[in-house]
Amino acid sequence: MFRIGIGTDTHRLVEGRPLMLGGVHVIFDRGAEGHSDADALTHAVADAILGALCEGDIGVHFPDKDPRWSGANSLDFLSRVMWLARERNLHVVNVDSTILLEAPKLRPYIDAMRQNIADVLGVDLGCVSIKAKTGEGLDAVGQGLAVTAQAAVLMESN
Ligand SMILES: [Zn+2]
Repeated sequence: MFRIGIGTDTHRLVEGRPLMLGGVHVIFDRGAEGHSDADALTHAVADAILGALCEGDIGVHFPDKDPRWSGANSLDFLSRVMWLARERNLHVVNVDSTILLEAPKLRPYIDAMRQNIADVLGVDLGCVSIKAKTGEGLDAVGQGLAVTAQAAVLMESN
């Protein structure tokens, strides 16, 4: 049996916060605002997996009112979501994702992000795709106000 899921996540960019994406600290003068480490890519991947499981979204599992998740490493969210998947005897086949961010250029960071996510999902590096796009100066991403990530996941029964 196969299951698919999609996820999307946006965070506002502000000064005085680190910019975490796929568990990698991207050097930039702004970072993502949020209760946890506000890692939009990891949140989108976690939501895609929860979607494949019909288990709601990360806001249900890791509420931003809960002090336990303050400053949390979002790779820990992803790892908890994978426990749910394993309980259902499902494993990840592949993940495709896109990060929408005006600056900085993400190319130097992409492989480290792929490795972090592949490690948590228990798949090979070749099963995790991360693409990077800009907003062409247009919307909130394009104006440098936000970072957005989108992810799709395919899961299969063990
Ligand atoms: Zn988020």
